Amino acid sequence: MPAKKSSSAKSEQEPMISTTIMVPGIEISSYFGEMVFGPQAQKQYLSAESQNAIEKAINEGAAVSRDMSDGVAEGMKNWALDMGATHYTHWFQPLRGTTAEKHDSFFEPTGIDTGIEVFSGKSLTQQEPDASSFPNGGIRNTFEARGYSVWDPSSPAFIIEKAGARTLCIPTIFISYTGEALDYKAPLLKTLAFVRKAATDVCQYFDTKVNDCSVSLGVEQEYFLVKEDLFRLRPDLMFAGRTLIGHTPAKGQQLEDHYFGSIPTNVQAFMVEFEQKAHQLGIPLRTRHNEVAPGQFECAPQFETLNLAVDHNTLLMDVMESVAQNHGFKVLLHEKPFKGINGSGKHNNWSLVTNTGVNLLSPGKSPEQNLQFLTFFINVIKAVHDHADLMRASIATAGNDHRLGANEAPPAIMSVFVGDTLEHVLNDFESNKKSAKGKSVKDAIQIPNIPEILLDNTDRNRTSPFAFTGNKFEFRAVGSSDNCASPMVVLNAIVADQLVKFKSLVDAKIAENKGIAKEEIIKQVLREELKTSKRILFGGNGYGDEWVKEAEKRGLSNVKNTAEALAFYMSPSSVDLFVKNGIYSLKELEARTEIRYESYNLRIQIEGRVLNEMVQNFVIPSAIRYQKRLADNVQALLSIGQSKKSVVAQVEIISELSKNINKVYELNNDMTNERAIANKLDDAHQKALAYNKKVKGLFDDIRECCDEIERLVDDSDWVLPKYRELLSLN
Ligand code: ADP
Ligand code: MG
Repeated sequence: MPAKKSSSAKSEQEPMISTTIMVPGIEISSYFGEMVFGPQAQKQYLSAESQNAIEKAINEGAAVSRDMSDGVAEGMKNWALDMGATHYTHWFQPLRGTTAEKHDSFFEPTGIDTGIEVFSGKSLTQQEPDASSFPNGGIRNTFEARGYSVWDPSSPAFIIEKAGARTLCIPTIFISYTGEALDYKAPLLKTLAFVRKAATDVCQYFDTKVNDCSVSLGVEQEYFLVKEDLFRLRPDLMFAGRTLIGHTPAKGQQLEDHYFGSIPTNVQAFMVEFEQKAHQLGIPLRTRHNEVAPGQFECAPQFETLNLAVDHNTLLMDVMESVAQNHGFKVLLHEKPFKGINGSGKHNNWSLVTNTGVNLLSPGKSPEQNLQFLTFFINVIKAVHDHADLMRASIATAGNDHRLGANEAPPAIMSVFVGDTLEHVLNDFESNKKSAKGKSVKDAIQIPNIPEILLDNTDRNRTSPFAFTGNKFEFRAVGSSDNCASPMVVLNAIVADQLVKFKSLVDAKIAENKGIAKEEIIKQVLREELKTSKRILFGGNGYGDEWVKEAEKRGLSNVKNTAEALAFYMSPSSVDLFVKNGIYSLKELEARTEIRYESYNLRIQIEGRVLNEMVQNFVIPSAIRYQKRLADNVQALLSIGQSKKSVVAQVEIISELSKNINKVYELNNDMTNERAIANKLDDAHQKALAYNKKVKGLFDDIRECCDEIERLVDDSDWVLPKYRELLSLN
């Protein structure tokens, strides 16, 4: 009999927690950002001129000149050396995986036994990593593999410590020799400039003192933890990030007793350490809690400017994964690691702020009179309405397909939730009259001794993919493992494009109608926009079947899988949006879409292979082993004169097992054949459609047999850790 799995990760591996700051009473503010070359370190290590250049780059998007970069590099190097770093790397976000690094040493030998530490402005600003292995969607052939990483001064450099070695990381964009973007950050920066300008221009109608806007983002990150020793016994978790088979346990999340419950001690130790590492790196984490599913948790930072928030979220995922090892855990960032249990998302809280400090999505006390708020609010709704399919495409991945529309996840139908109060305001605004207000919750809650509840303008609606939550929009359908840049590029671009369209309409009308007040014209245009986009507003239960029917009636799309959703990147309106506004060239857009199809295909291919292996090497052998024991038992009982009646149960289980073994064997072969057929297709989109329908289409049937076998066989014959073991952390 094979060795039975153990779950003794905790006792075998003592947590290695850094002792420097694990002392109660030490304030986070005393070490927050100490690993970052931020304004404080810059003040100490850079000339006023260099500091000024960086500040200008951040605030005005100005490039740092070559001459200036030498000075910055020298200061940055001195800081890094003082901090104990030996190497530096350009840190970038290629189109697959999370981040990429190639470490170079500061050290340069000058003789047989002499050397110095050097770092030039050129090394800071530009590098040429051997880029042939990064996905490029056909932009570069491998023989012309040159790609450049170029410094992004708007995101501060930081030091990462791994295995006692410290490395200076410089955030960069990554582009091809011919200038096409090969990463997430480059287009993100373009859309940021676009939306900043578009929003600033519109602000001029209301306040001429506004000369810039910024975009803020706060990312709530959901994740699962599993014990590392059990993880290593599950090939599906190791290679696909999710369980491909597994019988649901007797107790899952039906009692909903995990959400906001007390955090297990070993998990708390992990959280405390990764939060400390994150705080040292200037990632402003504020909250931690249990999520709905057992083994599921969430953390969220204070919002920041969008570019920094995206970098920080990417970095955070790395930090979490590396710290988990110290605690015998594995972090699962997959959108749906377990069937029948909630998946994980990454809620992107997004808003626009003026340089005068006004949150443009803050309704204030009387939203109905706040025309600036209504302008931005309605334009965002209109943008999402007009590009709902592109929004859907921006979050489409193999992993997220399992989540959208499943247990407690927003549906694949794009809709916007604004809450009762604002829906009321919008209705009144559109019809230009004032109706009576509904009863507020405040009136309903009458408990003595409880302080007055500060009610949000919006109630919570966990079922909406895109919800207005008080003073920001929250894109909730983003997948937990995704780089936020992908949905944020789309959101920034569609809102900016809409604001530009809005402004040109208003300007034209102002020119045509000299006698009419500007405010009146703005209202007229907004009313038109609202009329043509309000079908996207939905305040009901997004999980219900009624909504699917209602959405269909309203003509809203419900695209359930990535293979179909990605095509919207190439729709005429998306091409127009991206190309006209200089976000992507047509070539870049095609390449990116191709990469997304390829990623999808690879994921399904890997899942198919792993499933195949598990059926063949684990499930069928387990079933046969148990079957043999039962058969031996039947034989033995009959040989000592027991009646046939006494072995009915054994015989029934034996034939149930046979039925499932044969069925799963056949399905597994079918799936392998379908993979071979799909692999012969040249076109990535066609391949994705085939993988989705023909290959992935068989996964559930295979799983059903496997789960039935798992239910039937003796626990000691079942070598894979079960759901109940994986989901229990203490
Ligand atoms: P939850 O949605 O779980 O109740 P909150 O609404 O308090 O949590 O905040 C979620 C995230 O939204 C946090 O990262 C928070 O900093 C961020 N957030 C709050 N205000 C804004 C804003 N104006 N712009 C962008 N993000 C914001
Ligand atoms: Mg939220």
